Amino acid sequence: VTAREEGIARVQMQTNALLLTPERACALRAAGLTSAFVAYHSHLPEIQDRLTGRKDSGARTLAGIKAAIRAGIPVSLNPVLTRLNVSHFPDFIDHLAAELGPLGHGRVPLEVVCVTLMQPHGRAAQNPALLPSYREAQPAIAEAVQRARGHGIATDTHYASLPLCLLGDDAAIQASLEFRECRALRQGPPGAFLEERLQAVIAHKVQGPPCTRCVHKNFCHGVWRAYAKRAASARSGRGAARWPTGSEEQRRWTDTRSSSK
Ligand code: SF4
Repeated sequence: VTAREEGIARVQMQTNALLLTPERACALRAAGLTSAFVAYHSHLPEIQDRLTGRKDSGARTLAGIKAAIRAGIPVSLNPVLTRLNVSHFPDFIDHLAAELGPLGHGRVPLEVVCVTLMQPHGRAAQNPALLPSYREAQPAIAEAVQRARGHGIATDTHYASLPLCLLGDDAAIQASLEFRECRALRQGPPGAFLEERLQAVIAHKVQGPPCTRCVHKNFCHGVWRAYAKRAASARSGRGAARWPTGSEEQRRWTDTRSSSK
């Protein structure tokens, strides 16, 4: 029995695409798969292999992504940014455009690239050396978002709900799910989707001292509580994380807006 025969309208598969051959991709599409959410972390083989613990995983994952696209399955990517790959993130975006652009006849055939920073939860919490601080991740994220826009690739942060100050510019901030859901919450009672987000995401985030003067404070839930705990630990000299302060441009913009009120 296929999802399509059962009348299920939307079925997404989360995958590393390692086993996604052209035949399997076509079979999944015929069975009713409507999208694939693929973990692909780096175009640099040694980094991809280290993050996945599998040899040659990058080439195989990229082949799986191409198979899905050729089979007509809409693909979103979820590169998880760590200390190993975050500085290469802008080049990763260029790599996606070069590899996948030809499949889309001028348009990169991706639904979205999620900007997901490693979170200090679960197994990841046991590898704190891999956790980048927001401060060190911000320039690469802002640059990658700009390059993605230049290639016509949509980006969002909905999987990890990053602080808005990491996104670099106003257009990226206003396009983010966090900004849009905050605006929706201010306009009326939450629907089922927002109720779910309130439980799963918003309840686990917190604003801190730098947020009090931030122009985005009514549209941003702040940082993850687990990150804030590590930041507090860093301030006392026991960790590597820092509270986010945004880019120089963002700080100037924030200061200008705050002083003109
Ligand atoms: S300073 Fe605080 S409120 Fe402003 S964007 Fe960053 S995390 Fe969000």
